[in-house]
Amino acid sequence: MTLDLQVCACCGTAQYPPRSVCRTCLSEALEARAMEAIGTLVAAATVHRSLDPGAFAKSLPLRIGTVALESSVRMIVLVPRDAIIGQRVSLRAASGGHAIEAVVLADPSARPRSQD
Ligand SMILES: [Zn+2]
Repeated sequence: MTLDLQVCACCGTAQYPPRSVCRTCLSEALEARAMEAIGTLVAAATVHRSLDPGAFAKSLPLRIGTVALESSVRMIVLVPRDAIIGQRVSLRAASGGHAIEAVVLADPSARPRSQD
């Protein structure tokens, strides 16, 4: 899966969420670019209670985590219960399309494809 990330045309910095200027050089020359959604799980936590009883109640306990993508962007996503910090993951749209979830890569040496 690829993600359309905002990339600075001046310095090449990718950023998420989108902003009006580049977080590195403050340029306004920003463009959307499809980038490979492969990275490393750097943190995870399990949510046992929802502040909104209607939201996610059927999904609890829910495991969420932070994934550091190769583009240096970090995203908070749904994480498999057996995922371990440091594992290589790929991101995809979760069922229903309202969230992004991580999938542990069977080949931990998997590298993103060239962005050319
Ligand atoms: Zn920039």
